[in-house]
Amino acid sequence: MNEMTFLKNLDFIRTGGSKEELKAAEFIQAELQKLGLKAKIEDFPVHASTISKAELEVTKPYKKSIPCTGYMNSVSAELTKDMYYLRNKNDERDLQNIKDKIVFLDGGLPYWTYKSLIENGAAGFITCNGNLHDDDTDIDYKEIREPLEKLGQLPGVNIHLKDGYPMIQNNAQTVKLTLKQTPVKNAKSRNVVCKIKGQDDEIIVFSAHYDSVPLSHGIYDNATGALTIYKLAEYFASHKPKHTLVFVWCGSEERGLLGSIAFCKKHQKHLKDYRLNINVDMIGSHLGEFDTRVSAEDKLAHYIDYFSSEVGFANKVTTGAYPSDSTPFASNGVPSLSFARNTHLEPIHCKYDDMSTVSEKNIKEDIAYILEFSKRMANSALIPVKKEIPENIQKKLDEYNYVKKPE
Ligand SMILES: [Zn+2]
Repeated sequence: MNEMTFLKNLDFIRTGGSKEELKAAEFIQAELQKLGLKAKIEDFPVHASTISKAELEVTKPYKKSIPCTGYMNSVSAELTKDMYYLRNKNDERDLQNIKDKIVFLDGGLPYWTYKSLIENGAAGFITCNGNLHDDDTDIDYKEIREPLEKLGQLPGVNIHLKDGYPMIQNNAQTVKLTLKQTPVKNAKSRNVVCKIKGQDDEIIVFSAHYDSVPLSHGIYDNATGALTIYKLAEYFASHKPKHTLVFVWCGSEERGLLGSIAFCKKHQKHLKDYRLNINVDMIGSHLGEFDTRVSAEDKLAHYIDYFSSEVGFANKVTTGAYPSDSTPFASNGVPSLSFARNTHLEPIHCKYDDMSTVSEKNIKEDIAYILEFSKRMANSALIPVKKEIPENIQKKLDEYNYVKKPE
């Protein structure tokens, strides 16, 4: 199947755990089967609650109802409390003021902020998405992610910053927060997994997430990555590799890398044979530079840099942890790297990430580069990458996985 047709087949919202995600998984599975490959859908549980009511109202010194969405996987509540705008989220001098308040955050809900809210006795919270001068006031659907759930339960709502700003300007003092939802249950998300057997049992694993966030068709992020590893599978289906290749289309990446975490857990005892993970998250955009983040020994980053010169492809190579499905592999000791055409200029995680964000020419060029690199690795006499995660990378991974608080 050609590139743009593949993307058009994924041109719908595919939230992790939804029936639309299943439809996308079945499409990918069917396309692999057309190539003569065996592909299976591996289910894994994700948390889900159903929200029946989410309301926010300023009650003092004026009355105003504020459009909001409720945080899934939190708790039901009906509270009228003083509101406190927490400006300095990591500062004890500010945190000491939040006890029994509904805390207003001028952004999302990072792990360490949520932990501070719990530890300092907040009663609930309000987060904001968007920018003050957006044309729209689309409100994102949010959830308490699984690592945060373990810290405790606080009710929360999300609003658009355009609706939140007047609350700060007008010194909203007391707010009423109402949230009704079912207890948290397990829903089903899924990975699509396909193996191409090589001449040996050393494994290179390719990954790309195919889910999207609730407001987005996720073409650039990350139907393009799903397409990339499909094109690699298509190539290797007819060009038998030396090493064994595993392809994983990950579900629920946007909900906290849940698909790749589930894959590593399910295949834990075979991970000793996994030598390298090549992840793709967002390519082919009109704007933006190509970059690569390596979570492995420095030598791999140097090799990719030299390789890029050899083939004449501009690529900014750095080392560290990347917020995508490469990180669970690296966290499980599998050297990994993530390719992206990264830019803050193209929209992601909103309704503007559609077919208009991607260029057929750039998609073809980016995939050709990734394929060329993948051929080198798949057919190498020896897989050159040392199977260890250096200390400086491990530190970044620990920070990403909330093991250590970033300094
Ligand atoms: Zn992504």
